[in-house]
Amino acid sequence: MTEPILIAGELVEGSGEPIHLENPKDGSACGIYSTASLGDLDRALQSSNGASDSWSNIFPHERARYLYKVAELVDRDSEKLANLQMHQNGKTITECRAQSKSCAAIFRYFAGVCETQEGAVTTPRSNNISMTIHEPYGLVGLITPWNSPLTMDAQKLAPAIAAGNTVLLKPSEVTPGVGLALGKLCVEAGIPPKLINVLNGNGSQLGSAIVSHPDVAMVSFTGGTSTGKKIAHLAAEKLMPVALELGGKSPNIVFQDANIDEALIGVSSGIFSSTGQSCVAGSRLFVQENIYEEFLDRLINIAESYKIGDPGCESTEIGPLATFRQRKIVEDYIYSATDNGGKILAGGSRPEGLENGAFFEPTILGDIDPRSKIFQEEVFGPVLIILPFKEEEELISLANNSVYGLACGIWTNDMKKAWRVAKSIKAGTVWINTYKLLSIANPFGGTKESGLGREKGREGLGLYQEQKTVVFSI
Ligand code: NAD
Repeated sequence: MTEPILIAGELVEGSGEPIHLENPKDGSACGIYSTASLGDLDRALQSSNGASDSWSNIFPHERARYLYKVAELVDRDSEKLANLQMHQNGKTITECRAQSKSCAAIFRYFAGVCETQEGAVTTPRSNNISMTIHEPYGLVGLITPWNSPLTMDAQKLAPAIAAGNTVLLKPSEVTPGVGLALGKLCVEAGIPPKLINVLNGNGSQLGSAIVSHPDVAMVSFTGGTSTGKKIAHLAAEKLMPVALELGGKSPNIVFQDANIDEALIGVSSGIFSSTGQSCVAGSRLFVQENIYEEFLDRLINIAESYKIGDPGCESTEIGPLATFRQRKIVEDYIYSATDNGGKILAGGSRPEGLENGAFFEPTILGDIDPRSKIFQEEVFGPVLIILPFKEEEELISLANNSVYGLACGIWTNDMKKAWRVAKSIKAGTVWINTYKLLSIANPFGGTKESGLGREKGREGLGLYQEQKTVVFSI
């Protein structure tokens, strides 16, 4: 059976080239999804025309009720959604279940923000009363990657709808299922169907057509930096605002005065959880010279002890990469690192006994030149590079030696030092004595080539709105 697309709340078969999915656990076929042609895109935009006007005129507390309902339905289908994601991107079932819960929480959070968002009465400089109100853009394009559709798709759908917009979601061609399922739940929750479009399809044609379309007033994108730059170029042509959540090569820094046991857990899970396919993966590790050897030995032990295997098995800690193509990318990075003098300290191969799937061992590389590709580029896999450092000043310059600025981890018991270093590192998020602790309540985004704008948090709703000033003469 071919899965449909969702045009203005109606399930229809798209007339684009269908996507045939492959389960990364063993290469077996796992579904066919129809995709939207450019004609389907036009039809979706025409059918949704004007829908945002009536939706945004509904009082916010009433809009919020629909979002609470979506959250309830996500909870109802939690196990189904977790399995859907697991089959399409190979994430462990434990992580998928946690993300199903987060998905519902995201809808609840933005329901709360929607009910409580305030405008402002601004200070007058003449005889007037002036105020700022928030209005939706109208029709927004939401383009998402494959690594965590349960949270990434929800993080865009919930605030964009709460803000009063019509949405056009284009999920990744690797994981078309979750976005479609969430779109159906929005319709089931009673959100006016004309507001909801989920168009599966490929990025370079359908994705760029969405960005360029004159009816699309804003685009929120999460994905790779090179795609983000293409989107920014297209958006510039029509002076359209974009939010870009892009790649990273985040430093994780361990000072000699850190709690080593805690740092080892944070550093290893910071890179190896989700098989390294996380935008905030702590993929560059800097360890202070005095503790370097001991830390490395213990880290190698951890990397070699992970249970790799079937993502559906609850005891599995590391599943496959999301695609065989992604594994090839990871392997090519490792060849390039070793060609440049890098040394494999742990992993570096496909694990034995799992030949049918896109598995790869947690890998640690040493002797890394900061000018090399492996230091500078995002791998998006379970690959950690480790470098020693002597002093804070040298460390800060090494850590900031990157086009990216998404996240950073600092491990130390000296809070003055933690604060100093946190202020000196160019990153959208800094974790101190923890890593990858994400919350829908915290604004999230990148500096430098890691992105533009902030998602999540109370102001995450404002990302999908424009401010309007209204002045009453008195
Ligand atoms: P990608 O850039 O290849 O694709 C992302 C989405 O963009 C997909 O839906 C794709 O179809 C679409 N797309 C591709 N080309 C397009 C174009 N020319 N115009 C419009 N849309 C286009 O990224 P990916 O491989 O799916 O995901 C991995 C990347 O996502 C990594 O770089 C990772 O760091 C990044 N990411 C960032 C965050 C964050 O919040 N900063 C979160 C998750 C993933």
